Amino acid sequence: MSYDAFQNRELSFTTRQLHAGYNPKENYWAKNVPIYQTAAFEFGDFERCERINNHSESGFSYSRCSNPTNRVLEERIASLDGGSAALAFSSGMGAISATLINIAQAGDEIVSVRTMYGESVGLLESVLPDYGVVGRFVENPDDIASYEALINEKTKAIYIESLGNPSISIVDFEAIADLAHRHGIPFVVDNTFATPYLFRPFEHGADIVVYSATKYLGGHGTTIGGLVVEKGDFNWRNGKFPGMEAFYESKKGLVSEEELANRLFTLRLYLRSLSYFGANLAPMSAFLILQGIETLSLRMERHAKNAQRVAEFLAAHPAVQSVDYPGLPTSKYHALAKRYFPDGLTGMMAFRVKGGKAAAVKVLDSVHIFDQMVNVGDSKSLIVHPSTATHFMMTEEERQKAGVFQDTIRLSVGIEDSKDLIADLAQALNLIQ
Ligand SMILES: *Cc1c(COP(=O)(O)O)cnc(C)c1O
Repeated sequence: MSYDAFQNRELSFTTRQLHAGYNPKENYWAKNVPIYQTAAFEFGDFERCERINNHSESGFSYSRCSNPTNRVLEERIASLDGGSAALAFSSGMGAISATLINIAQAGDEIVSVRTMYGESVGLLESVLPDYGVVGRFVENPDDIASYEALINEKTKAIYIESLGNPSISIVDFEAIADLAHRHGIPFVVDNTFATPYLFRPFEHGADIVVYSATKYLGGHGTTIGGLVVEKGDFNWRNGKFPGMEAFYESKKGLVSEEELANRLFTLRLYLRSLSYFGANLAPMSAFLILQGIETLSLRMERHAKNAQRVAEFLAAHPAVQSVDYPGLPTSKYHALAKRYFPDGLTGMMAFRVKGGKAAAVKVLDSVHIFDQMVNVGDSKSLIVHPSTATHFMMTEEERQKAGVFQDTIRLSVGIEDSKDLIADLAQALNLIQ
């Protein structure tokens, strides 16, 4: 029996994070994924040129649209998430904006929450509306009726994060997925903070998953990238998505029925977003993200273990007012965490100190291992003041709705030895006691 781990989806997660989507035999037997540093590809002959351009043959012509190194990354994340197809983008925001405009067009609305990555809220609130696509934010993300209240004829998707930023909030995914599907609209989930190792949204009703691969997937803070994954069984031809129907009609007969049935979203994303907006990932970046994914499960286990210890330490510290981490029994999301995250939680958490902004600043400026950065999901521990660094574009009222106060500190707990991280936080917190 020869090597076929690259295409065996029955293999376990950690085996697939190392093998899925890459066949050395097709690459001069190179064991590691080659970086195809080329802008364009030869057609070979005229007939093949025709087939590549009408998409009756899958292949590569220009790296703005696709590249073999990126293709390995796409197939790997599709395997890890259990999706039918995936597409790589130059950043998480590239992936998110392309996804939303692949679903909605002028006149449409997207129902979302404020407890999200700052730019994702901003995209829906102040950028897309200029092009006719309006974000509607639910009053209470924890209450399913709040979502239902905003859904109308114009609504084309529900968009949330699997672990909300920065308070690590958790929604009842299956209830929201049911609501979306009752209205014939897709449920789109940003799974950046969880990664497919800790949570696979498709198993709980999501239709499209997006990532900032910059974070835990790449895992080492070296590379900006984004990914979109399609589950493959959403009916885009249910009368609510005229753009998708027109696209289907234009490809019918050229592209296989199987592709149109299971990968329609991705095919359109590729032919419109990458072709016209061009937020493609560089192959070198795809390579670096693939390197990160090779150790994803190992790192996430360590992030989760360290974060749980740090959260327990913070919760017991007299200078700490409250800790947002669903792994704590006191968290209002603890029951949902146990139900949806049986293998542990992310390394992300937020906490509020006693003594207001001045005390928060003192802690931020007194830690020696945690570094002040907006980034998250690095293997090294990071710390930030969200109201100054990540949520600064919001009003104070909007920030508070997102769970961001002047005394809030966000941590991205790395994979260092947890006793060092706890000692570092302890010495800083003792200064404000
Ligand atoms: C960082 C991040 C993004 C944006 O990703 P970029 O790669 O920085 O463009 C989107 N969503 C979440 C949850 C993030 O953490």
